[in-house]
Amino acid sequence: MVERPDVDEASRKAFRRAVLAWFRRNGRRFPWRERAGRYSVLIGEILLQRTRGEAVAEVYEAFLRRWPTPERLARAAPRSVAEVIRPLGLAKRAPLLVRLGRELVRLGRIPSDPKELIVLPGVGPYAAHAVPVFADGRPLPLVDWVVARVLRRYFGLPADRRPNADRELWALAQELVRPGRARELWLGVLDLGAAICRPKPRCAECPLRVGCAFAHSVGGSG
Ligand code: SF4
Repeated sequence: MVERPDVDEASRKAFRRAVLAWFRRNGRRFPWRERAGRYSVLIGEILLQRTRGEAVAEVYEAFLRRWPTPERLARAAPRSVAEVIRPLGLAKRAPLLVRLGRELVRLGRIPSDPKELIVLPGVGPYAAHAVPVFADGRPLPLVDWVVARVLRRYFGLPADRRPNADRELWALAQELVRPGRARELWLGVLDLGAAICRPKPRCAECPLRVGCAFAHSVGGSG
């Protein structure tokens, strides 16, 4: 049984509303956000594992032009894949990506269940949840380092574990999502974490500051 952080629904609701309102006005546009299919979302998330969003766009488009389907990726030469993804520092993952293509071909479909996705080559907990959230709009939790930073600061939670291992944080994230709004909520948290709740937070310009535990603790909520 996972302990849930002691966070009431009023706080969760205030967080959701502020993030969604901010995202409607300030959300970023990236190629992988414009493409809706599970394969393109999955490839985008794998390419984003190490590198900031802006740097990935060109490589992502080149990748999908050459290997637009799992079948094409399954037949790719790892050396060719390595050449394309080298600018992202991911060249060593080329064989893994080819194996991913082969595994998807063997399955005959791209799963939407995180439990099925997480056993695929190169797919971690974040990507396994990002695919059903971003491609299918499923109301699932989504936690990476950026989301963890924002949630921990806002709700006053400890930052003593890696996000993947923080089951309480994933439980809170599950309670934050509502059907029909998961995609916008998590994109909003990711964008807000990139623009405002950065490692050095800009609380004075943050739409979450009124309810944020961190901002209150440093006297920056006004
Ligand atoms: S008020 Fe500050 S710490 Fe809180 S979410 Fe915003 S930027 Fe982050």
